[in-house]
Amino acid sequence: MPADEILISETEIQNRLPELAAEINEALPDGPIHVVIILKGAIIFGVDLARALMRNATLGFLAASSYGAGTKSKGRVQIDTEHLGEIEGRNVLLIDDILDTGHTFAKTIDILGDKRPASLRTCVLMDKPARRETEIQADHVGFTIENHFVVGYGLDCDEAYRTLPDIRIYAPE
Ligand code: 5GP
Ligand code: MG
Repeated sequence: MPADEILISETEIQNRLPELAAEINEALPDGPIHVVIILKGAIIFGVDLARALMRNATLGFLAASSYGAGTKSKGRVQIDTEHLGEIEGRNVLLIDDILDTGHTFAKTIDILGDKRPASLRTCVLMDKPARRETEIQADHVGFTIENHFVVGYGLDCDEAYRTLPDIRIYAPE
């Protein structure tokens, strides 16, 4: 299988979740929050993290596509806001799977900012700083990784591998 090498184990991910949740809870204002998960890659991390927060939260979703088929970014980002939910005046936590060039996150933050949330904090499961092409950083980062194309725990290659419980390095055969 081209995705045999485990980069981040299921145990490491599960141990990191409550630590991240504590960090985020510390930083977010008290009261209800709106958690926005970027589909599809952040779906599994997003709901696990949202539950680990153990607070009054609503869920919204954005669908972003920058990678089409395969492992190369197209540099174009499309964002579907149909299931975003109400943003204005609310404390919002934006969750994505991985911060790579940063174009997806930059565009998403612009879209949310335009809708005037009371506050906006951002969290990514992984950060790949070596590939950044923008100034964007996330407020909370699960793991900083080297420049690998990774799959698992929500992340895909041509829609495969999303349901793996861990993060693996994808190496085409
Ligand atoms: P960016 O716009 O920051 O270049 O790309 C971010 C998006 O590209 C991520 O949300 C993710 O969907 C996809 N992406 C970036 N790096 C990887 C990777 O290593 N593996 C997978 N499966 N997707 C990635
Ligand atoms: Mg994504």
